[in-house]
Amino acid sequence: MPVADEIDNAGPHFVKILIVEDQPRLSQLLRQGLAEHAYTVTCAGGCQAARDALCEVSYDLIILDLGLPDGDGLDLLSEWRRSRFTEPVLILSARDSVQDRVRGLDLGADDYLSKPFSLEELLARVRSQLRRRSEVKQTVIEYRGIRLDLLSQSAHLNGQPIELTRREFALLEIFMHNPGRILARTLISEKIWASHYDLDTNLLDVYMSRLRAKLERTYDKTFFRTVRGVGYQLL
Ligand code: CA
Repeated sequence: MPVADEIDNAGPHFVKILIVEDQPRLSQLLRQGLAEHAYTVTCAGGCQAARDALCEVSYDLIILDLGLPDGDGLDLLSEWRRSRFTEPVLILSARDSVQDRVRGLDLGADDYLSKPFSLEELLARVRSQLRRRSEVKQTVIEYRGIRLDLLSQSAHLNGQPIELTRREFALLEIFMHNPGRILARTLISEKIWASHYDLDTNLLDVYMSRLRAKLERTYDKTFFRTVRGVGYQLL
């Protein structure tokens, strides 16, 4: 089973860009142009491949074509926004009417560039999106009734305060940054227990069961799924 190989809030990391484009030549051109500027690039040739890619790893930016062989990029975009995937999306499409642009932006795209385009302009727009992204520092994260305030380090569930230790809070925060994604045990452990030499992943199970007890027993909802031998997922 594919697993996220990097955690969203792991600090400085390589900028990851997902290209959703079905034309192999264009896809290759984009990949090359972006890779030359040290971006880490993943390409998906259709809707399903893009869905799969985004379920596995988080991206800093998605470049989205609209006419795809197995569906419409706009449907994909609205699906992502409904599922609270907040990755910035730059639409790159041959559809260039005002209505098309408005529709794309209304559905949650962050920018719209029409084909044909110059690679230079695309790169400038990518930089602009990434700058904006790093300026927006989220201090409150909400998901399924869970509300984490990162400044005051307080947690609420359905408006009721939950008492969490610092480690439990840090653990929940990682999941809240990556809802729906399967996170590998070693990655979670490395993030929570910075010193690797005494890394004991059994400790993770202990913390997970405490966190579950605090979130799930009181409200009789399942928040976490254990993926045997792999890790955990915030559902
Ligand atoms: Ca296309």
